[in-house]
Amino acid sequence: MSVRAWKRVITLVVILIIVSLTAGLAMVTADRKTLENEFDEAMKNEHIVDLSEYGQMTREEMDGLFGYFGKVKSNGFMDYQTKYSNLYVENDFQFTDNPDEKICYLTFDDGPDRNNTARILDTLKEYDVKATFFVIYKDYKEERELYKRIVEEGHTIGVHTASHNYNKIYASVDAYLDDFERCSDQVEQITGVKPEIFRFPGGSVNSYNVGVYMEIIAEMTRRGYTYYDWNIGSGDASASYVASSKIVDNVLNTGKSLNKKIVLFHDGTGHKTTADALPQIIEGLLAQGYKIEALTKDVEPVCFGYMD
Ligand code: ZN
Repeated sequence: MSVRAWKRVITLVVILIIVSLTAGLAMVTADRKTLENEFDEAMKNEHIVDLSEYGQMTREEMDGLFGYFGKVKSNGFMDYQTKYSNLYVENDFQFTDNPDEKICYLTFDDGPDRNNTARILDTLKEYDVKATFFVIYKDYKEERELYKRIVEEGHTIGVHTASHNYNKIYASVDAYLDDFERCSDQVEQITGVKPEIFRFPGGSVNSYNVGVYMEIIAEMTRRGYTYYDWNIGSGDASASYVASSKIVDNVLNTGKSLNKKIVLFHDGTGHKTTADALPQIIEGLLAQGYKIEALTKDVEPVCFGYMD
């Protein structure tokens, strides 16, 4: 063959090699893209990645090959499970509810408040009645004293988060736990009692937490905590001013057929009429034959249903 002919052959071979390499690379890239998309979808929708479909690759091999678990880790995917080591309580509860007994649990959210909570505690003491306080974080001397009073006078103290800032606490499970821990630690440090029950700001399902509530509930339940919604609203936060007569009426004349009432009140700043209404409410409930007690984790919770 002539030199020219040899040159042609060599050029052809080189072209063939380049074409096959490019095709191979394109296939690998396409496979990788598909896999990456599947992971993305899985994480977005269900947070479940089924590794079995991808053969016998170890997590490290996957990691090295796609950097995917690196991405997952850097996104903080479920690493809250290994944080907040103080947020564990014994889930040794045993429900002791008697369905034939008429019983009412008065619960107060958003306190303590130096005026309202103090007055409410006075009233409860006067009638020798125990209640439940789902508190937020306060660090003034007056409110620190009230955390103590709540515990010392035999009431139950539960967590309602530190900031009560919906946008902040419902941003992620991590954000929720972080805020919850701040409140729980404050209560424990001041009273010596570690709260075991809690109430979600806005209730367990609301428009702020709809994307994250199930995950928060699962995580809090895994840590042993019990949450309580309510089946009677006192309506004391339905407007900036609610007359105490209206609050009395809401509590005494709603759900009259219920043997077990968990009533939502607010003792935060601005809820003077709630404190005003309390004596009449206690007298009314006792006249209707209700026992009044504080919640403990041995009381079966009232929980809002999950959204469809
Ligand atoms: Zn609240």
